[in-house]
Amino acid sequence: MPELPEVETIKRDLEKIVLGKKIIEVCVHNPAIIRQMSADKFKKGLTGSTIKNVLRKAKTLILELSNGKSLVIHLKMTGQLVYPGDGKKSRVSFKLSDGKMLDFNDQRLFAELRLLDDWKKFKFIKELGPEPYDLSMEQFKEMLSVKKTKIKPLLMDQKFISGIGNLYAAEILFRSKIDPARSAQSLTEKEKELLFNSIKQVLDEAIRYGGSSVDDYVRLSGERGTYAQYHKVYGREGERCFFCKTPVKRISLGGRGTYFCPECQH
Ligand SMILES: [Zn+2]
Repeated sequence: MPELPEVETIKRDLEKIVLGKKIIEVCVHNPAIIRQMSADKFKKGLTGSTIKNVLRKAKTLILELSNGKSLVIHLKMTGQLVYPGDGKKSRVSFKLSDGKMLDFNDQRLFAELRLLDDWKKFKFIKELGPEPYDLSMEQFKEMLSVKKTKIKPLLMDQKFISGIGNLYAAEILFRSKIDPARSAQSLTEKEKELLFNSIKQVLDEAIRYGGSSVDDYVRLSGERGTYAQYHKVYGREGERCFFCKTPVKRISLGGRGTYFCPECQH
């Protein structure tokens, strides 16, 4: 599932390509991904408006429109935005003022599209915890000190800190040399600092490579993000750790597959 680096990559791609363009026509091929309103209202609310601003809140994309409304997009498992699209696989296609199509594909129909009057009042967004980039080291350390939860599920808890999912939580904890099953409270000051720095380093690197295309995620151009080749533990069960040669392990933690090196991470 796309996490902060993938959604940030799409946001930056969208800024270069669709910003300032007008939505001429909306074709809804499958209304199941439009939440909270009819396909008709959705089409009417979008047609004729210009894309004024592209924002990202954690893993959610927001396209602010000239009519004051916002298109809020949650890609979930298999959502893709592709430009220029051909409409062949799309659930919804947006015809833009340049004559080209912006396609929204979603093989498994888990994605969520919403047209909102005010995205700031959307409960899901209001409840998001701070993003790593909004926190100081001191704030982060304080947040951890009151949590007894295991560190990996805590990093993935969007109300605690937003933007990190299963993949980057594993990579971040490997870089911090922290066992994913440790309780947050048990981390030393030094470990908390290392963790804080690792979060930003891993996310920054992933953004630089356009994210990780491990499932259906692709960039706006349809190209894959190339960060997966730099993963140290995620998806590498049984393969040797690049540092100590111990086989990478996969366990279930909080119901999620968790990759780590039993030798490097304590
Ligand atoms: Zn190792």
